[in-house]
Amino acid sequence: MAASILPAPGSKLGPCTSKCQHTDCAMTRKMAAEKCCACGELIGYECPYYSEHDGRMVHASCLQDSLLNSYYYTFGSDLAFPHCGGWVEVRASSWEEAHTKFRAHFPDRPGHEGILNCAFFYDQDNWNKTIMAKGSTEERCHEIII
Ligand SMILES: [Zn+2]
Ligand SMILES: [Zn+2]
Repeated sequence: MAASILPAPGSKLGPCTSKCQHTDCAMTRKMAAEKCCACGELIGYECPYYSEHDGRMVHASCLQDSLLNSYYYTFGSDLAFPHCGGWVEVRASSWEEAHTKFRAHFPDRPGHEGILNCAFFYDQDNWNKTIMAKGSTEERCHEIII
């Protein structure tokens, strides 16, 4: 996946600096005004970014930051969990960010707001000590959330 860059207004390939009717210019302006899904700032011009397949956009530098650490969320045999057994891996720069990403995927259960919809969660160090990390169980990773 290659990063893209929006050319600055008034530069050779960039949009016009003043209001205009060009479709291309309108498109570039619209994209520059999108928010980065990692830091929440505008994507802006002259800044490498990636577009995700679902249409979200993220700065290339933010994406690298957010892939720094792996966090693991396991599911027990309770059928109310989004998965039965196994775990999902979340890539993030902090626990706070990891929980936010997990919740975006698996919202708290109604009546259990404030409680993550999983059995346990581990950071990389603690995960490495589990039998699941050693691949010695039937449990498996369902997905990686980035
Ligand atoms: Zn124009
Ligand atoms: Zn960003």
